[in-house]
Amino acid sequence: MKRQDVILRGLIYNEEVSLAVADMTQTVNEAIRIHHLSPLSAAALGRTLIVAAYMCSSLKEEHGALSVTIRGDGVGGGIYVSGDASLHMRGYIENPYAELPLNARGKLDVGGCVGKNGYLSVVRDDGENIPFVGTTPLVSGEIGEDFASYFTCSEQLPTAIAVGVKIGKDGSCVGAGGVFLQPMPGASEESIARAEEMIGKFSAISSLVEEKSAEEILKEYFGEVNFYTRRPAYKCNCSRHYIEGILAALGEEEIRSVVKEQGKVSVHCHYCNTDYTFSPEEAEAVIARAKSKADT
Ligand SMILES: [Zn+2]
Repeated sequence: MKRQDVILRGLIYNEEVSLAVADMTQTVNEAIRIHHLSPLSAAALGRTLIVAAYMCSSLKEEHGALSVTIRGDGVGGGIYVSGDASLHMRGYIENPYAELPLNARGKLDVGGCVGKNGYLSVVRDDGENIPFVGTTPLVSGEIGEDFASYFTCSEQLPTAIAVGVKIGKDGSCVGAGGVFLQPMPGASEESIARAEEMIGKFSAISSLVEEKSAEEILKEYFGEVNFYTRRPAYKCNCSRHYIEGILAALGEEEIRSVVKEQGKVSVHCHYCNTDYTFSPEEAEAVIARAKSKADT
């Protein structure tokens, strides 16, 4: 039976370090199914989905949301991931079919897919006032290191990160997971050093997740920990109603000119790879509804 995706969170090392262990194999498989991803594109987008879901599990407000953009100069192009406090995650990569030879360690060359020159940007909305926006330059394009640099430089929250995606021979994901160790404010030097040392044991996190459940990993490496369970999933929040709103915002003139040119209007949702098509009559109905809304 396939395991359900999970993020386990708890406090370790005298409650001085926040721990998260994530298994997101199914989420990555859903991304592969929706976007027909090559193994390399799946690894790059998958790693981003895992870290973004971890960040979503830290959102304070019920209505909080978060968006990650990674723009490097690699063959994969830009990576875009969004999620919310319910851990409904979605994302896409500009080149879903990216391919490169394996790297020197015989692994998928995620660094080459993402690129070393570029930036990682996060927009985080805790549901309070103005969203927080942070941007840092890419370090290696390996994503885990890039996010670690982001946490240190942009959020002043040094975080030890191990993240990985393993793709099987048939192109499906057999293990996708992450371990995150974030010292709490005021954590002792000793706890910080322990966290830094510990993260080194998870260099093969995707293989670990392939073999063991997140709970087994947590118990094996951290012992008895009081943890709570969150359930991430790939879920797009678009709907025909939502897309109608986007269409209406284009304005009457623009909608009619597209209908005239193409005989219809199509709006594409990149996150779930869905086309919403409006016939000339349906487009007119959208215009009429937008007008009646504006009048009231
Ligand atoms: Zn969608």
